[in-house]
Amino acid sequence: MPAHIIDGKALSQTLRADVARRAAALSAAGRQPGLAVILVGDDPASAVYVRNKVKACADNGLHSVLERYGADFTEAALLQRIAALNADPRIHGILVQMPLPSHISALKVTEAIATHKDVDGFSVHSAGALMAGLPGLLPATPYGCLKMIESTGQPIKGRHAVVIGRSNTVGKPMALLLLQANATATMCHSSTPDLALHTRQADIVVAAVGRRHTVTAGMVKPGAIIIDVGINRDEAGKLCGDVDFDAVREVAGWISPVPGGVGPMTITMLLVNTIQAAEAAA
Ligand code: NAP
Repeated sequence: MPAHIIDGKALSQTLRADVARRAAALSAAGRQPGLAVILVGDDPASAVYVRNKVKACADNGLHSVLERYGADFTEAALLQRIAALNADPRIHGILVQMPLPSHISALKVTEAIATHKDVDGFSVHSAGALMAGLPGLLPATPYGCLKMIESTGQPIKGRHAVVIGRSNTVGKPMALLLLQANATATMCHSSTPDLALHTRQADIVVAAVGRRHTVTAGMVKPGAIIIDVGINRDEAGKLCGDVDFDAVREVAGWISPVPGGVGPMTITMLLVNTIQAAEAAA
């Protein structure tokens, strides 16, 4: 029997309904949750991402501010804008869209955002809180993946989870979240000599590489949960993930598609974080 599809759009709708309910409750108390999104430069993909984030806010009762600056905007000016937004009581979350132009330090910018407004969860403080098992804002993509894994109804505790990719924004926090949920977590990366050796033993695989067909049917344990974070294009220019979806679907128990999987969940978890930050401020 082919794998169950983990429908990120459907799960997002359920979670966004809860976001909208909480946003309405905050607004009724005169504390409408607010997200500031800053875009520097003219990267077309980034422009689409920020538009989608702003639209998701509007659709769910959050106030949002989009600040767009040219590629020549200085680091000092950007840091000044972040300081102003840190002090603005109508703003509960600040997101600076990556990548930034090369003359701006992404680390400086991330660290300039007040910890309680760091809805991307990328700051050293947020990463440290996750590492230490302390409460904090979680990076949206791995947080969304965790929700998708939970949505299968399968236990995570005691399972073997393999995360492919070790970026600070996806792979590492994903492995920490799975560890926190009492999975045995293995992290693989480009220097892992035999990736299949690990994935074949995994009850849960999260692929966050950015390379098509990184996970093929022969690499998957029958019945496993497969979460595909990757965003790639096939020869025809069609969007696809890191997993050979059609073949793996015949072996896995659950699988998330691309598109319609992790993508919508990432924006949803950004909204969840903004609501959480606004509720904490209230
Ligand atoms: P990244 O920073 O480029 O990290 C990629 C990771 O994959 C690295 O840790 C790299 O290992 C590892 N890797 C590369 N080739 C490998 C191989 N052959 N075998 C095993 N591991 C390998 O990328 P990222 O930011 O984590 O993103 C990963 C993918 O997810 C991208 O396609 C990105 O577009 C997508 N993404 C999607 C969403 C969404 O919302 N859907 C959000 C974020 C990212 P090394 O560390 O050894 O180099």
